[in-house]
Amino acid sequence: MNLTRKISFILCISSLMLSGCTETEQHQSYETSYAGMFYNRAEAFYCYKTANNLTHRLDFETMKDAALCNKPNCNHTATDCFMKRLNGQVPVFDGEHGYYFLDDAPKYQPDESGKTKVVLGSSLYMHDFSQETDTKLLHVDASVSNNCYGLLLKDHNIYYIENLYSRETDENGVETGFGNTGGPMSLHVYSLETQEDTKLCELYNPAEIGRIYPTVYYSGEVYMAGVYDNKLYFNVSFISETQPELVSKIYPTYYDFTDGSYHGQPDNISDFENSVVAFVSEDCLAECRNGETTVYRKGNEIPVELTNECFNDYSEIYVINDTLFCTGKVFDLNTKEVREPAVLKDKSVVAKYGDSYIISDIGMRENFEKISAEQLLK
Ligand SMILES: [Zn+2]
Repeated sequence: MNLTRKISFILCISSLMLSGCTETEQHQSYETSYAGMFYNRAEAFYCYKTANNLTHRLDFETMKDAALCNKPNCNHTATDCFMKRLNGQVPVFDGEHGYYFLDDAPKYQPDESGKTKVVLGSSLYMHDFSQETDTKLLHVDASVSNNCYGLLLKDHNIYYIENLYSRETDENGVETGFGNTGGPMSLHVYSLETQEDTKLCELYNPAEIGRIYPTVYYSGEVYMAGVYDNKLYFNVSFISETQPELVSKIYPTYYDFTDGSYHGQPDNISDFENSVVAFVSEDCLAECRNGETTVYRKGNEIPVELTNECFNDYSEIYVINDTLFCTGKVFDLNTKEVREPAVLKDKSVVAKYGDSYIISDIGMRENFEKISAEQLLK
């Protein structure tokens, strides 16, 4: 970890140490719901995208795994099926409601130069699971694919990322440059109470990054990693084509809910070594860089540093209490002891539920099992 980031993390850790003691430790999971590219991990269920591009919900109590659709006798093929409409996206949840964005069907418009451009648009919907109805809450002139950038519901606010990338079409009306997604991206909040929509900050500006990497032009991307200690973490990545190599960079940033400040990349981005926020929960943040993983925990001043090649597979990391799980392995964060239980061969832990653990195949989730702590840790 370079010095700038080390300092910012130390500041972050010290500020939470100061504020952490004065606030009542309330369980907020019912008020905070985060959906990433593939899943939404709630206290009692796991909502996820299947290999067939469907949205399923696994109930931890019953281990029932079913399509996210309450319509009786629905075969999930018609567009009046909520799950079909989601098209593999994972919503955020608030009691009986689910929230999600759907990008508009493509609309084409010629610009001044005679080129045909695709007009961007996206709408926020609220789904009522008891009535099976959908209500449109907001329309924005941007792309908000929440399966790409993540979506967050926190304290009756929906936080989403807007992308203003441009899409052109060729003379046949076929969209070109789909990889060219490096448009400006910003964080917005929609209040479910006042229906107000506000831009909070810019997260990614290709022109700015282009000053350091002049040829940055495609695949710029920002996605939410989750909320840790009242801060919303993002991973920012971009690919820049230079002669003769392709430079790929990824680095974490965060938005601080406490004072509304955004902590973006440092002034000299070229100092940045690739680093990714791999796991985030209210109590813990795990960051991976070059095979090394640093774990920050609420209430623990000293982060835990672990070195192991398995962390290259950072998307499988799950941390709860004093234990870090990744594919096939279990790490004790206090003793740094590593175990490789037989039950975790080619499997990873998805969640902890009561005294049990939910495990599944790695990659696209399949074959969920609920096992006891004894089974897992022996
Ligand atoms: Zn259905």
